[in-house]
Amino acid sequence: MSENLQRVAVLGAGTMGHGIAHVCAAAGYTTALFDVSAGAVEAGLSKVTANLDKGVARGKVTEAQKATTLQNLRGEPDFDAAVAAADLVIEAVPEKLGLKHDVLGRAAKGAAQGAILGTNTSSLSIGAIAQAVPDPSRVIGLHFFNPVHIMKLLEIIVGPQTSPEVYARAAAFGERIGKQTIKISDSPGFATSRLGLVIGLEAIRMVEQGVGSPEDIDKAMTLGYGFPMGPLRLTDLVGLDVRLHIAEYLCEKLDDGAHFEPPALLRQMVAEGKLGKKSGQGFYAW
Ligand code: NAD
Repeated sequence: MSENLQRVAVLGAGTMGHGIAHVCAAAGYTTALFDVSAGAVEAGLSKVTANLDKGVARGKVTEAQKATTLQNLRGEPDFDAAVAAADLVIEAVPEKLGLKHDVLGRAAKGAAQGAILGTNTSSLSIGAIAQAVPDPSRVIGLHFFNPVHIMKLLEIIVGPQTSPEVYARAAAFGERIGKQTIKISDSPGFATSRLGLVIGLEAIRMVEQGVGSPEDIDKAMTLGYGFPMGPLRLTDLVGLDVRLHIAEYLCEKLDDGAHFEPPALLRQMVAEGKLGKKSGQGFYAW
């Protein structure tokens, strides 16, 4: 199916939003990037230019592709103007249900009736987010990975009321922006967070029980299973506080969530401020 989309509005220009806008513009979509902070839009556009420059230096992007991408991309200071012109809106605002409701609710009013409303939430229920939209069949989860212009996966989460047509168009969109897509039902942690976390938590339990050092447990997965990064190093990069928060959420939301019970060591390290790379200390010293 053709996705029949030409214009994309990305709402939120932070870590994820600028990358999403980058890949959309590179694929030929006319792309507007909006943020409540004008500075965030400027910073986001500068990062896109810097990433394109790196791509050119590495021979991955041609000068012509860089020029076309930048031509297709604009910072848009006006929310209504951004969404009114879009056939696909993707929100990448902070992970708070109230904020997602506000932003997608307003987008639903301002965008054309047939426009698809995508959310880049990494954990919230698509069904819950869609409650702010009069026609929830238009809402779909488009879960990108950081850095967006490099990571190949787009996890598409189909909400309880998402229409099959909206899913088919979203999958075609994913293909056009050069991602591999997976189709996942709206369930806590989707596929990626649920699977990634269960290994991360077990690795922490193994450190706790003295099964091995963080280095050796990570090597078990990198060298033994070909993981690009061990689960403890990844936990340090994501942030121990972030992982604790998701573990508590999955423990509560999943019927059989007992294996997401956060290990005591994780709670202790977070309480001590050992949050991983961002605090300088986690399972590794950074
Ligand atoms: P971020 O804090 O880097 O960026 C969020 C941006 O949204 C900020 O620039 C902020 O100014 C802007 N914003 C706040 N309120 C807004 C509003 N009402 N309208 C428009 N813009 C607004 O956050 P992020 O890491 O890019 O995360 C965004 C979303 O993506 C979250 O839902 C997060 O869970 C999800 N996500 C993050 C990652 C990651 O690795 N960081 C990966 C996948 C998904």
